[in-house]
Amino acid sequence: MKTIYTDALVIGGGLAGLRVAIACKERGLDTLILSLIPAKRSHSAAAQGGMQASLGNSIKGMGDNEDVHFQDTVKGSDWGCDQKVARMFAHVAPKAVRQASAWGVPWSRVKQGDRKAIVNAETVTITESKEAHGLITARDFGGTKKWRTCYTADGTGHSMLYAMDNKAISLGIPVHERKEAIALIEDGERCHGAVVRDLVTGELVAYLSRTTTIATGGYGRLWSVSTNAIICEGTGQGIALETGKVALGNPEAIQFHPTAIVPVGILTTEGCRGDGGLLRDKDGHRFMPDYEPEKKELASRDVVSRRMTEHMRKGKGVDSPYGPHLWLDITLLGREHIEKNLREVQEICQYFLGIDPAEEWIPVRPTQHYSMGGVRTNEQGEAPNLKGLFSVGEAACWDMHGFNRLGGNSLAETVVAGMIVGEYVADACEQYPMGEVTLAKAKIGEQCDDIDAMLSRSEGESAFELREQMEAIMMDKVGIFRTGDELALAVSELRELNQRAQNIKVSNQKRHANPELVAAIRIKKMLKVALSVAVAAEARTESRGAHSREDYPQRNDRDWLKRSLAFWRNDDIELEYEQLDVNEMELPPGYRGYGEDNAIAHPDTEARLAQVEQTNAQFENRFERQQQLMSYELPANLQPKNQRLGEES
Ligand SMILES: Cc1cc2nc3c(=O)[nH]c(=O)nc-3n(C[C@H](O)[C@H](O)[C@H](O)COP(=O)(O)OP(=O)(O)OC[C@H]3O[C@@H](n4cnc5c(N)ncnc54)[C@H](O)[C@@H]3O)c2cc1C
Repeated sequence: MKTIYTDALVIGGGLAGLRVAIACKERGLDTLILSLIPAKRSHSAAAQGGMQASLGNSIKGMGDNEDVHFQDTVKGSDWGCDQKVARMFAHVAPKAVRQASAWGVPWSRVKQGDRKAIVNAETVTITESKEAHGLITARDFGGTKKWRTCYTADGTGHSMLYAMDNKAISLGIPVHERKEAIALIEDGERCHGAVVRDLVTGELVAYLSRTTTIATGGYGRLWSVSTNAIICEGTGQGIALETGKVALGNPEAIQFHPTAIVPVGILTTEGCRGDGGLLRDKDGHRFMPDYEPEKKELASRDVVSRRMTEHMRKGKGVDSPYGPHLWLDITLLGREHIEKNLREVQEICQYFLGIDPAEEWIPVRPTQHYSMGGVRTNEQGEAPNLKGLFSVGEAACWDMHGFNRLGGNSLAETVVAGMIVGEYVADACEQYPMGEVTLAKAKIGEQCDDIDAMLSRSEGESAFELREQMEAIMMDKVGIFRTGDELALAVSELRELNQRAQNIKVSNQKRHANPELVAAIRIKKMLKVALSVAVAAEARTESRGAHSREDYPQRNDRDWLKRSLAFWRNDDIELEYEQLDVNEMELPPGYRGYGEDNAIAHPDTEARLAQVEQTNAQFENRFERQQQLMSYELPANLQPKNQRLGEES
């Protein structure tokens, strides 16, 4: 058995994984990253729009701070998030942007003087101050109160990922590419590393470590149409589930992005609407103000996606061979703006639709986009029931997103959580012993037996067929609008697929470079994750954020102010719940400011609101006030206050 030892094993070479690895390496730990593909091709590279952080440099961001960012995030989450985590996040985000800048991210900058911008379909003049000239600027994005989304034209993820990967290279952190973690090595109490399959040679290798971090991104490819890269298949969540000890938190919380192009599902960034783009129906009518008079096109994504679907159901969609769609109109922004700030969008339209978005409208519809759910961790990023296993980024449910994450908060989460959790991972590496080799042997044996069985079977199921059927079930029955009947059907169909997956036959007998074998290994994990989504969605009889039950249209704080925990036990999903305590919330549940105002209140909300108001009246200093309301912890190096233009330090 080939064995590789490292202190900190990081599974995933996207922004989150790279940032955790950097934190560990900077603490002098031996650190190693695994990735399916070269790190710079991770899905993080596709993010166009930007990263939220309350810098408050641009005139439209003036007055922004951690408090405002925190409130936007909690409201966006529809009160499903862990508010302490949202606080930790909002505090560190400005540091993360500045650090990224120091590491080479070419953030777009404020230019002093007048410039034209489109706000609510009107051309307005924005005047930037002389003091702000040259500082990092921000765009309107994510339905936030202040313009807070920092960007590098529309290639933000690309430039961030390159800077982060270059930093990792400069620190000498090895990335083992084309390696897939297919199981965790654990003893029921502690994680010792992972069984890793070399995608080129087919060899199984034991990676033993003091800590293991799952940073494998989202699970969008469970659906047949998604904005996610084809590698976002949720195998990281799958191997965590398969331990039986680790839960997926809120797996049913799935975001649908309003503006993916039809039919392929490639995203056009929310920056299009942030910069002033409009949504139109088959008559060319701008319909969002009819539904959302205040936020219009910039209401949160769950709301815009639902309004679009509602509008198409009323027959206002444009008929196409691929079903109905709506239009995204960015022609009003002008060619110069598009060629400067929305270049990737322009290229996507040219290459995949054959249109020029400066002249023609873009066909769009809501499409699966982001996984709020993931490996459930505590505030330090560690799985509560399996010491030494951490998770970070989209793979995780650290839970700052609750039931809807705001545009621009995810890129920010990858690096912010990478910074915070990275410190806790490094602390753990200093405490925990190296993984046990005897456990690895047993785990590798199990995986070998499974692969041998699939290769030697004379009759059996096709992994590709199982996958196609799973994708269709998820698309048809576990989408934007959900009903109990459809979800129950989805659960029973997925259970049947899971049974059939025990009998997969791989026809291509090669052990090396064999895509059919890869698909066979993956589908078993994907089905478990898919089942966790459907089972948790069926059980949650309310509508919250992106989880919209037509048979239970109200957000129900009385009965459902809790996080779903999905465990894989006895060959099926078992649900448990984690209660969210209103009495500990800095921002008690209320109206989000957009969407329907129809929640069933929690019995503690009124009393907590009164307490909060009293505290607010008592303390003038916002930092003291905040500490009184809900204290939170951060690693010492991340605690200092953030400086802002015009604020006394
Ligand atoms: C089209 C698009 C645009 C977006 N735009 C924005 C935006 O503008 N702003 C914003 O905030 N967010 C945006 N997002 C969301 C954001 O980009 C992602 O949430 C974030 O980049 C995820 O980063 P990550 O590091 O968690 O995972 P990823 O970047 O997906 O990296 C996952 C890594 O894990 C590896 N991996 C996976 N499984 C395994 C395995 N089993 N073994 C070994 N390695 C494995 C992969 O090789 C990869 O290196 C966008 C998302 C999409 C789909």
